Amino acid sequence: MDKALTKNIDETRGPLDYQGYVAAGGYASVAKAMEMAPRDMMALIKEAGLGGRGGAGFNTGLKWSFIPEPDGGPRYLVVNADEMEPGTFKDRLLMEQDPHLLIEGVIASAWALQATTAYIFLRGEYTDAEELLLTAIDEAYAHGMLGTSVNGSDYRLELYLHTSAGRYICGEETALINALEGQRATPRAKPPFPQISGLWGRPTLVNNVETICNIPSIVLNGVDWFKQQGLGEEAGSKMFGISGRVNNPGCWELPLGTTFRTLLEDYAGGMREGYSLKAFLPGGGSTDFLMPEHLDVPMSYSEVGKLGSRLGTALVMVLDDKTCPIGCIHNLIKFFSHESCGWCTPCRDGLPWVEHMLLEIEQGRGKREYLDILKEMTGYMGPGKTFCALAPGAMAPLQSGLKHFMAEFEQHIDEQCCPYKHDHQLQRS
Ligand code: NAD
Repeated sequence: MDKALTKNIDETRGPLDYQGYVAAGGYASVAKAMEMAPRDMMALIKEAGLGGRGGAGFNTGLKWSFIPEPDGGPRYLVVNADEMEPGTFKDRLLMEQDPHLLIEGVIASAWALQATTAYIFLRGEYTDAEELLLTAIDEAYAHGMLGTSVNGSDYRLELYLHTSAGRYICGEETALINALEGQRATPRAKPPFPQISGLWGRPTLVNNVETICNIPSIVLNGVDWFKQQGLGEEAGSKMFGISGRVNNPGCWELPLGTTFRTLLEDYAGGMREGYSLKAFLPGGGSTDFLMPEHLDVPMSYSEVGKLGSRLGTALVMVLDDKTCPIGCIHNLIKFFSHESCGWCTPCRDGLPWVEHMLLEIEQGRGKREYLDILKEMTGYMGPGKTFCALAPGAMAPLQSGLKHFMAEFEQHIDEQCCPYKHDHQLQRS
């Protein structure tokens, strides 16, 4: 696999400035993209099979192709850099370590869309990324890559960096659009999808940072090259990462289809001494737990999907044998409950209730009937039962946890205490 996303990254040196980036071959895709008719470029990205790297894996070129033909009015490209999924830090790494790659991807993608305005919607806490991106954007303007005459052409593109006021739901594309418009960040009904009616009612593409960072190398190297970067059916490399009690937590660019075992053992250096793997969440906090017997499964959207979970952001969260699984699930639900936008009742009222019951169980005040209620709640907040994917995502670790950790749930209730409490105290000390 050729490194496409991380080829310029050297954390000891920091990000390349404009000159360094150009010297490393940067911005070459802009001229090549602009030699292509916008629809041809959309077709190229569709054929390459680039799955959206925000977590859903939806074919990026197919999503682009829903954009209507230009009608003389504005159309927008929005980079979703509101990375707030628990355990996920891949976009931060890309933006902090190679901001010009994102800007190059924005220019090439905006050309395909024929947008003259693009936004990067950045998580508010990413202050380092903000500073580095602002510097890189200034440099790109100063060297004629942005502004009235992109790369010496008559194509004009303005790029704005917008920092989020800070809400998980702002990462949902329609809530993000509302936030950009200065409105309360609640999701909108889909359809219409943003491609048809997005920012200020105009055609809008919202794409994740990593997705956009893939565009330059696809434009330069073509479809066949991109397909060869994956190990199985799915094309491309992917940012994978891991957190938890492993020896070397981090984030790496690897071929799609790499196994969980390779990530854990070869890149993360295995579990820390004294800890063994109990379970893992494959891609952020809103995915279903997988178990040690799934370690040899390839990390691709389809293969993980077959197990009843999702690849999601592909940043694995490891649960070890000395951490309370109920405490882990409670912690995640507490986050999602706090982040509920309050728009629809199941999510607004359901999540705090689930959070309360999990706290009671974790702290040794649980009752047997809570288990039935929790199961029932996963149904009330399952896919299709709420306005957006926040609550169904929150239910994923709970419903899979009820399946895999029922013995632990029952032990907490029967013994009226947390059997892992001693380890909790050790961890805190
Ligand atoms: P989704 O599957 O509904 O949509 C994915 C993309 O495809 C969207 O842009 C949507 O507009 C487009 N799309 C889907 N169906 C379409 C259709 N019929 N016509 C036109 N366009 C269509 O997923 P979502 O709700 O946008 O996102 C959920 C994902 O986001 C989850 O997989 C989750 O892992 C991830 N996520 C990531 C973060 C993060 O920090 N990176 C945070 C929260 C959630």
